[in-house]
Amino acid sequence: MAETVIKGKICDPNNICDCLTVGELDPCAIVIFGASGDLTARKLIPALYRMFLSATLPDPVSIVGCARTGYNHDTFRTFLQAACTSEPMLNMARWHEFADKVYYFPLNYDSLPDFLALAGQLNTLDQERGTKGNRLFDLALPPSLYASVATKIGEAGLARQFEKGRGWTRIVIEKPFGRDLDSALVLDQTLHQHFHEKQIFRIDHYLAKETVQNILTFRFANTIFEPIWNRGYIESVGIIAVEKLGVEHRSGYYEQAGVIRDMFQNHMLQLLSLIAMEPPSHFEAEPVRDEKIKLLRSIRPLHDRTEDIVLGQYGPGDIDGQEVPGYRQEPGVSPNSLIPTFAMLPVHIDNWRWQGVPFYLISGKRMARKETRIVIQFKDVPHSLFRDILGAKVIANRLVLGIYPKESISLTFQTKNPGARMCMRSMTMDFKYDDFYTGPSPEAYEKVLIDCIQGDHMLFWRQDGIEQSWSLLTPLLNECETCQGRAQRLHSYTAGSWGPDTARSIVEGIVT
Ligand code: NDP
Repeated sequence: MAETVIKGKICDPNNICDCLTVGELDPCAIVIFGASGDLTARKLIPALYRMFLSATLPDPVSIVGCARTGYNHDTFRTFLQAACTSEPMLNMARWHEFADKVYYFPLNYDSLPDFLALAGQLNTLDQERGTKGNRLFDLALPPSLYASVATKIGEAGLARQFEKGRGWTRIVIEKPFGRDLDSALVLDQTLHQHFHEKQIFRIDHYLAKETVQNILTFRFANTIFEPIWNRGYIESVGIIAVEKLGVEHRSGYYEQAGVIRDMFQNHMLQLLSLIAMEPPSHFEAEPVRDEKIKLLRSIRPLHDRTEDIVLGQYGPGDIDGQEVPGYRQEPGVSPNSLIPTFAMLPVHIDNWRWQGVPFYLISGKRMARKETRIVIQFKDVPHSLFRDILGAKVIANRLVLGIYPKESISLTFQTKNPGARMCMRSMTMDFKYDDFYTGPSPEAYEKVLIDCIQGDHMLFWRQDGIEQSWSLLTPLLNECETCQGRAQRLHSYTAGSWGPDTARSIVEGIVT
């Protein structure tokens, strides 16, 4: 069966349009492993329920939870209902209609008989509900279980597609995709023993945010930006994704990961590739992913200049007037932990377009506010005819692509103040998504689930992209995690601040 491709159009700004309709999705069973966990309750089920409310959920559909916890269908539905009820904006009036589509099958992740029994149950559901053998397996599990569960799915004959009247089969995995290059390669080999690359969807939900997707439209559906999108006009680029939250209840995971594995291997490198890649020939998954990977291959090895990298860890401080503990005082964190919660990586791209332009990639926890933005800092004018009059240099242009808290695009330029004297003022042209698009827009997890069901890989990592990102980061991680002065290299910063002193001026330049 061909993959579904949803066509778009140029919308009339004066009329309500139907952009939110997604076309008919194939009937399918959505099978969630690890269904008793946090991701299922907080993200997946609310997203599926929202899809149901907005009539974008496939029909018919069955949503099948699997985990070791001893729920039955009813207690599982009650667990999910409680999780959704705690979402303030969710209208629960039609919950019971949705809950009728939800099932639970307890299983052990290493038991082939359990997976064979699941296969039988899925066949029965196909007959009863008309889901036509189409199956989406979502591994909402700790990453250590990805390989064994994917293998059991395969051994139970559940990975095969389009055989004996069956429909499609796809598998969804969440970051982290391994913890270094070797483990990522092993994971991929295991996945490929039973699944073709086309069947694998490696989620990066950041990419499903509207503004992130808009980067490609902004760059490639307008003539005026691309000619100046290069080393001739751009001084530097800042990509920042920081948050006020600390490690919360995920210290077990974070102590193994740290900020580089948690944020840079996936979200930060994806944002960088969207901003810096060459134009793809078509707006289709493979040409877009080809260009992103080409860009990743042009990045200068990061471990060549580790002295330029700033790593930090938050100490105690104050967030919104509340005292908060330092990272080492968080439950489940070693009191001597050397895990970084902040990193600033200056990245250089060795190609014709970007030679000499630094890209500052910055991410951290317990920072002054939650903010995700990309700042394009243009060069100074080549010759300032105003220098003698102003006694100062003309402020260079700046373009800000805001992702959080406001999805926005702002361009700062110079204007003359009214009056007899020649005084200049920086003005900003602001475009805020909320001001123009007031209707509902799908949350990131809705978008990724719809794309998986449509078989559209555009927003998902491809195997070679994962390999390339780990090839860049693994030597850096090795260097940072084993170097002699590891403790001295980890700068402490106060919770609620803009990070370590050594990075402060660059960070503040990007967020203000
Ligand atoms: P959880 O820690 O909540 O685990 C999910 C389920 O897996 C648990 O309910 C449990 O189910 C089972 N499980 C947990 N630990 C073990 C273990 N050691 N051995 C066997 N089974 C275990 O994970 P999350 O739901 O938070 O995350 C799932 C995946 O999604 C992870 O890979 C995570 O990195 C990723 N992710 C999570 C996000 C989130 O917001 N939570 C955001 C982005 C990605 P049972 O005991 O019933 O079998």
